[in-house]
Amino acid sequence: MYNLTDVKEIKSILSRHGFNFSKSFGQNFLINPQIPQDIAIYSGINNDSGVIEIGPGMGTLTYELCKRAKKVVSVEIDKKLIPVLEDTMADFSNFTLINKDILKTDLKKLIEEEFCDMDVYICANLPYYITTPIIMKLLEEDLPIKSITVMVQKEVASRLCATEKDKDNGAISLAIRYYTTPKLLFDVAPDNFLPAPKVTSSVISLIPNETKISCKDKDFMFRVIKAAFSQRRKTLLNSLSGASYLDISKEDIKKAMEICGFSESVRGEKLSLSDFAKFSDVLLTEI
Ligand code: SAM
Repeated sequence: MYNLTDVKEIKSILSRHGFNFSKSFGQNFLINPQIPQDIAIYSGINNDSGVIEIGPGMGTLTYELCKRAKKVVSVEIDKKLIPVLEDTMADFSNFTLINKDILKTDLKKLIEEEFCDMDVYICANLPYYITTPIIMKLLEEDLPIKSITVMVQKEVASRLCATEKDKDNGAISLAIRYYTTPKLLFDVAPDNFLPAPKVTSSVISLIPNETKISCKDKDFMFRVIKAAFSQRRKTLLNSLSGASYLDISKEDIKKAMEICGFSESVRGEKLSLSDFAKFSDVLLTEI
């Protein structure tokens, strides 16, 4: 069994396989053994669980997941890492590797085919260049999963976990809150990776909401949210009346705001998800 957090050993394995880090795939591998252990523990997996891992790299987190779960399916885009992972994960019979782009992977089908009757969890040290598309795919596909435990850039983590009380509250925070209950778990400094990234990272947990906030038309609510945050310094009234794709007059927006009890000068970032649900319902039904 290799020590996948020992820099000398990592370099020796990678050079034996002729592997060079690719910046374009966001490759920063963990080298502190505590962090993959903590991600695996916080995710809540046990020996009955199925895990989908996104971007296994050379298997540092995969190793901790395989030790604890019934089955781990890792999806890795970089074909040069396939022989590396076949080597480093050779001792695990509960490990399956898929060489694919996660954004092009049919995850519902994967869950059906690979994890019959298992509770499924998602874990990853995400490639930072596509954090948001990956998270939105996981949420919008309405997957039957227990939790998502992922490492992202600290700055992104603050946005994902923000509420209307935080300055980072944005359209993505509201989308996250619609689908899940987010939690910031811990920060990870750049010197815990090889190569070291320029930024600090954070591990977050997203637990899918069993009941979603009620609104008449979710897609319309998200169009209103998108418009509300399209120009951050503008008031809600000005942002929405400037959004041609909503096609609602300033007068009607004002009326709906009055019905909801919003001040005329309120900005989108001060509104909660339930404010947006109520407001979009009023725009749809009472205006
Ligand atoms: N899990 C490893 C670790 O923690 O040491 C590596 C994490 S590294 C930050 C991100 C990994 O995601 C890399 O292995 C990279 O090749 C892979 N990756 C990048 N884009 C991907 C994509 N679209 N689909 C699947 N894997 C991807």
